[in-house]
Parts: sequence; structure tokens; C-alpha cells
Amino acid sequence: MSLLVVGSVALDSVETPFGKAEGVIGGSATFFSASASLLSRVQVVGVVGDDYPMDELKPLERRGVDLAGVERAKGSSFRWRGRYRHDLNVAETLETHLGVFSNFRPKIPPQFANAPYVFLGNIDPRLQLDVLTQVSKPKFVACDTMNFWIESRRQDLIDLLGHVDAITLNDGEARQLTDCSNLVKAAKWIMGKGPKLVIIKKGEHGAFMFTAASVFFAPAYPLEDVFDPTGAGDSFAGGFMGYLARSGDLSDASLRRAVIYGSAMGSFAVERFSIERLIEVDARQLADRVADFRKLVAFEEDIA
Ligand code: AMP
Repeated sequence: MSLLVVGSVALDSVETPFGKAEGVIGGSATFFSASASLLSRVQVVGVVGDDYPMDELKPLERRGVDLAGVERAKGSSFRWRGRYRHDLNVAETLETHLGVFSNFRPKIPPQFANAPYVFLGNIDPRLQLDVLTQVSKPKFVACDTMNFWIESRRQDLIDLLGHVDAITLNDGEARQLTDCSNLVKAAKWIMGKGPKLVIIKKGEHGAFMFTAASVFFAPAYPLEDVFDPTGAGDSFAGGFMGYLARSGDLSDASLRRAVIYGSAMGSFAVERFSIERLIEVDARQLADRVADFRKLVAFEEDIA
């Protein structure tokens, strides 16, 4: 089943303790689709400027990603500059240039409007809401956000929560949005605004999925070398939504498996800069990593 994503298609400049990348392809929709396309057909809606190296998106098309909804506008592409110091869980935003994003209004092509699975990637929550007026009754809608929007568009974001089934955000963002330091309380606060499912990611410490009925926890894959954490969150979301779109199953068991697929894809994303690693991962490597997750948490209860 097809999966629609709306989000940023960016040029990122990133500095980590292990190296630097200047003007490489990034953005929430880009990482999301690089990840989800291993599991499902993906349709992207976004905007780039006339300076965007469209050729570098070709590997996505080869993976079956439909870029018909990526508008090319006059002006500069969205650019993000970030830095990670030794704590790779904390991204420091040095610069955000909205460029063509400032005047962007997503236009969902008619052939995308019936997508049963919709992911509203990290963009202005007013645009995320606008997308929902252009799609017809999706089966499952999830959104993401970040500190930039929590600070600048808080009320719009809270309005958006009333229209989505799920939200993914990191622990710092959950605390900032809810003003609760305890993540269980923060998840309840968010569920009180609408979503039935809240996923709180904790970087190298894994991810929690909260629903009214249960809490599920997935560890992060214990990688020896984390090269660049940029895009881990969007790649997590891509694996999560990609799995759901592929299985068509929203049962608790399937949602839990989706969290593991998300964690596995997030762990691939951080092995290299940009989408380099994501676009070369194959189904076998993903299956192996999912199996490793199972081993990582399997234990036998002492019932003596
Ligand atoms: P994450 O998966 O959370 O690491 O997201 C990383 C991506 O978010 C980068 O590729 C950036 O281009 C993109 N990004 C950073 N700031 C924003 C923003 N304010 N709006 C939309 N996308 C952003």
C-alpha cells in the first residue's frame, strides 16, 4: 500500500566529531523516503529551490520513490546547518534557512490523494494541517516535529495533534512541548490532545511507544561507530510507517514490530553521512538487523 510523505527536502551541512559534510542532500522527507522505500511504495511532496542537485535524488527514484510531488520553485533550497559534539544525541542547530519553504504551500497531486498511510514530516505545522485537508480519509496518519516549530508554532502544533493518529518526537521535544519532565506523563499529555499512539525517541537509548493500553520499548542497536546522527529520527519514522504500509496491519503486535523496523532503519542511517547508507541497505540486511534486535532483548524468565 502506498505511503505519502510531506516534509523538507534540504541541503544539510553537518559537523560531527568524525567529519564534515557540506551541502549534502537531507531533509525530513528525504531521509524518510530513503528509509521507507525498502518496505513500501513512497510518494513525496515537498519543495526545492532552483539550486537543488536533483540528480542526487535519482537513487531514491531507483528505489521506487515517486517524486512527482516535489515542486521546483525559484529561489534557494531549504538549508540546515548542524553540529554534534561528543554527545551525539544532541543536535545543535547553527543555521536554518527556510528559502523556498517560506512561501511553500503543499499541493498533493491527485494520484497521491488516496494514500492510506500518511506521514507529515517535520515542517511548519500549519502546512502539515493543510495537507490533511487535501487527502481523502487515510487509514493512518502520523506526524513528527522539532524544537524549532514547538517554539514558533506551538498552538498550530497542538491543533494538529487533534487530527493525527500518531506522533514521533524525541525526548527533549516531548518535554518541551508538554512542560513535563517525566516521559510517561508527557506521553499521556500528548495522547490527551488526540493521538492514540505516541513514540518518544531517545537517540542511543532507544524508543518508547505509548498507547492507552500499553507501553513498548525498543533499544537502539548497539553500534560501535555512530558516524552522523542526522536523519535518524526520520529514518526511524520511515521504517515504522514503511512496515505498517507493507503489512496493512495496525494491531498492537504489528505496531510493535514496526517500532523495531524503525529502530533498525535508524541504526543504518547513522552509519554514514546523508542518505548514503540507507540507499544501499537491502532487504536481507534489514531482516538480519531485525533478528539482531530480537536477540538483543530476548531472555528467559526465572520461574523457579
Ligand atoms: P532528524 O531525523 O530529526 O535528525 O532530522 C534531520 C533533518 O531535519 C535534516 O536533514 C534537516 O534538513 C531537517 N530539518 C532541520 N530543521 C528543520 C526544520 N526546522 N524544518 C524541517 N526540516 C528540518
